[in-house]
Amino acid sequence: MTKDEIESFITQFPIYQYQFLKPDAIEYNDRVRMICKKECPRYGTSWSCPPAVGTVEECMERCRQYDGVLFFSSIAQVENALNMEESLSAKAEHEKMTHVIEQYLREHSVETYALSSDSCSACEKCAYPRAACRHPEQMFPCIESHGIIVANLVEKFAMDYFLGEQYIVWFSLIFFRNIEKESAKESSESRTGDFETEDIPKEH
Ligand code: SF4
Repeated sequence: MTKDEIESFITQFPIYQYQFLKPDAIEYNDRVRMICKKECPRYGTSWSCPPAVGTVEECMERCRQYDGVLFFSSIAQVENALNMEESLSAKAEHEKMTHVIEQYLREHSVETYALSSDSCSACEKCAYPRAACRHPEQMFPCIESHGIIVANLVEKFAMDYFLGEQYIVWFSLIFFRNIEKESAKESSESRTGDFETEDIPKEH
């Protein structure tokens, strides 16, 4: 499997923007963990969040065992991005897409590790900490749980983070190793998927 083949496969999904990067191009910041602890109600309540995911250093070491990363976003249109229930149901499609892409890579002998926006919401109530995760094959740890500030990554790779109050931009990182070396060029410019963007305001 090559990066060109990965690119060719993902064109069938409504990916908004994507970028191939190296795991060491990502900053893993221990201070994010303090924000999780102080400000996120999911801290200590999910297998996809700290402290269950390990220390930031352990998360960084885990991520850096991979050769590359597919960083991509998709957009959900909502009535009100602040409505938690609506936001979570809009996230389901992004999670499904992340799952299908990761499965495809695994079926082609690529080793992967995926992170996604927000904490896992597969179960009504997470089994953490009393029992093991019920669906480890579906569960993606939250990107921020690994000390990664998505906004910084988005800025670094010239992608979009905010498109207006009626849109939510979801992100995933799929770390991979064991792909063939080939021609796909690493670019500092983000690539845009097939998602129809003409209705999305460009000023933000
Ligand atoms: S799949 Fe269920 S048990 Fe596992 S992290 Fe997600 S919500 Fe928790």
